[in-house]
Amino acid sequence: MNITAHESALIVRAKTAYQNAYAPYSNFHVGAAALTKNGNIVSGCNVENASYGLTVCAERNCIAQAVINGEQQFETLVIYTEQEKLTPPCGACRQVIVEFFQPQATIMAVNHLADKKTWTVEELLPNAFTPKDLI
Ligand SMILES: [Zn+2]
Repeated sequence: MNITAHESALIVRAKTAYQNAYAPYSNFHVGAAALTKNGNIVSGCNVENASYGLTVCAERNCIAQAVINGEQQFETLVIYTEQEKLTPPCGACRQVIVEFFQPQATIMAVNHLADKKTWTVEELLPNAFTPKDLI
């Protein structure tokens, strides 16, 4: 699949999700959008809670949204913020990404300045614990 052809659509969806972020405590809004293997785009935003530990990141909400819709395989993930420094996924999200993305899948951070940085899943979490470790 040509990821570049979907890139702008993913960024638009991630930005739209960003606008719905619920982040009254950190004020750190994040939107994410993922391209599924079936060619669909799903999105998510961070959802914070007064009990801080219950906060769920945009990336994990995005992936959960896809799973709810019956999709478990992804081609790429875009993370949108309005930070000058591009935002990579946190450690918890990296572990969840490993569960559903191939090691060479692309994870892309973008911002309102049109800056862009990409990593492979393997670069973000090398030597990951995966379902294969349970066998
Ligand atoms: Zn996270």
